[in-house]
Amino acid sequence: MIAVNDLRRQNAPIAAELKAAMEGVVESGHYILGEQVVAFEREFAQYIGTHHAVGAASGTDALQLALMGIGVKPGDEVITAANTCVPTVSAILSAGATPRLADVDPEHSTIDPESVEHAITANTRAIVPVHMYGHPCEMDALEPIAHAHGVAIVEDCAQAHGSRFRGRACGGMGAVAAFSFYPTKNLGALGDGGAVVTNDSAIAERIRALRQYGRTTDYEHPAFGINSRLDEMQAAVLRVKLRELDRWNAERDAIAKRYRNELDNPSVRPMPIAAWATTNHHLFVVRSPKRDALQKHLASKGIGSQIHYPLPIHCLEAYRYLGEPGAFPKAENACREVLTLPLYPGIPAAHVDAVIAAVNSFRP
Ligand SMILES: *Cc1c(COP(=O)(O)O)cnc(C)c1O
Repeated sequence: MIAVNDLRRQNAPIAAELKAAMEGVVESGHYILGEQVVAFEREFAQYIGTHHAVGAASGTDALQLALMGIGVKPGDEVITAANTCVPTVSAILSAGATPRLADVDPEHSTIDPESVEHAITANTRAIVPVHMYGHPCEMDALEPIAHAHGVAIVEDCAQAHGSRFRGRACGGMGAVAAFSFYPTKNLGALGDGGAVVTNDSAIAERIRALRQYGRTTDYEHPAFGINSRLDEMQAAVLRVKLRELDRWNAERDAIAKRYRNELDNPSVRPMPIAAWATTNHHLFVVRSPKRDALQKHLASKGIGSQIHYPLPIHCLEAYRYLGEPGAFPKAENACREVLTLPLYPGIPAAHVDAVIAAVNSFRP
């Protein structure tokens, strides 16, 4: 079966560097908040173009810390997209806030600014745009809405390492932003990891305390905090992989271009890229009204595929209270039609050929 993503294949060319980096950590005697984390935070902030980056134990934690860092508290409402990955909503709840969902743009599956405006109440504290599949949200429409209502933008950049909106880096547009380094992300650790980035020194300092039991200096704890740190081993791995990120994203771009040029089937439509978007092609997603039949057809030809995601948040058992079925029709439609095709740095060209041939031979 041709895999949607094959991390062994992706990591193989840098395996020796990864092992050397990990060995260095073993020998250093420092495993938590040591020099690797400090160096990675500096390098990652520089990559995104923000003043600060603060490591965390996962992307979910990074988003929770980001929300806590701007002062989100119980009773506050936080708006996000109905089609997002579940952890976006977990993080909002873990920060003590109440999630509110908004529908998405029918073309790009990113949060719909008009729907966001409808969801704003007197209790809204933040909007969490999710740069879905690496495609940036329409920030030009979102920013004036946030500004007019005095609401902060907290970017969920878990899928958007290296993506840009009109030249502005994803992660540098909100008051604060959260990244995930889950192994399959464009920048992935060999385990869990995450980071918060911001240009605001006060927010960065608060998050440094929040990730470590609320501790500022040795025995001062001015506020409640959790334990969520990026460890030295993952930071050392991420420093090696960060050096590859632009090259990997360029490789993803070349594969995506092949798909866009060579996929030729009236019932399978690659998700369009907006004129203002530079996507990192985290996932190559096509839409088809016959999605399930397409997935079966691909499997019969030995081609793996995945669905990101089969159900919108409000249709999941735990979150039914966030909306009736039909409440966010564009997100629901997208969930019925999306299918993710194999794309990752290091994918053999023969696999890409096979995916194209299989999609083009699909007759619904
Ligand atoms: C992966 C992901 C997360 C969660 O990241 P973890 O590191 O797995 O906690 C959050 N939001 C989105 C959109 C994601 O894709």
